[in-house]
Amino acid sequence: MKRLLILGGTADARALAAAVAETLAGRAEAVTSWAGRTGRAPDVAGETRVGGFGGSAGMVDYIQRETIDMVIDATHPFAETISDHAYDAALIAQVPRLGLIRPPWRLPPGSRWVEVANLEAAAEALGKFAHRVFLTSGRQTIDAFADVADVWFLVRLIDPPAESLPLAAYEVTTGRPPFTLEHEKALIADHNIDTLVSKSSGGPLPAKISAAVEMGLPMVLIAPPPPVPGARAESVAAALEWIERQL
Ligand code: NAP
Repeated sequence: MKRLLILGGTADARALAAAVAETLAGRAEAVTSWAGRTGRAPDVAGETRVGGFGGSAGMVDYIQRETIDMVIDATHPFAETISDHAYDAALIAQVPRLGLIRPPWRLPPGSRWVEVANLEAAAEALGKFAHRVFLTSGRQTIDAFADVADVWFLVRLIDPPAESLPLAAYEVTTGRPPFTLEHEKALIADHNIDTLVSKSSGGPLPAKISAAVEMGLPMVLIAPPPPVPGARAESVAAALEWIERQL
């Protein structure tokens, strides 16, 4: 029986854990790992663990202690540190590592979007044309927008914030994806949103992007950092094939 470590925090990680439990039972078992940032315990097939490893050295210890045979990095494309750690740890522990990295979004012709290199560039872009912004890039990105003047923000977070946000004018809406197209269109219409800000996370288009496209809403999309080198799969099915080849 081979043991897999799936680094999670994404729907892909959950889907992969379910696929491993369903199709590789008796041949492989997965432990899915979460950072534990959000309040709710992950609902995932198989074994789970929650919380940081203590850097790449901690992950090496974990791999050796738990006799992990391979690592699948299915973390979010913007979670750079954990991916770097997984790359180093797999190299040091001498186990194969796969990155599960969704292909970039393909926006339909006529969509109104600009891709920016980072959060600072996103804040700068907003200052030029936006007035009522739907900010969906996550709690850790909000500080970057603190100095944007004359913009009201609808901020979407998974959990309600513990403290007030560093924005002059805003409202918070909470919820965990996926959302429906109707929900997203209603949020945008009810709050008179004129610009959407999102990380360009790849994979299937989320409802917020489809809603913005349908409503002709301008989007400021933050480009992901370059992925770490090494083996990569663009879908859960392709990741499963890679795992089978290692068994
Ligand atoms: P990060 O900056 O890359 O990681 C920071 C630290 O958090 C890591 O060094 C590690 O601590 C711990 N960590 C992160 N992911 C972990 C995992 N799956 N299992 C155990 N420890 C983990 O990550 P982040 O951007 O804060 O994201 C945190 C988690 O949220 C990730 O798992 C990611 O998949 C998920 N997520 C992130 C985003 C995003 O936009 N960044 C969006 C959706 C979901 P140690 O060094 O102590 O091991």
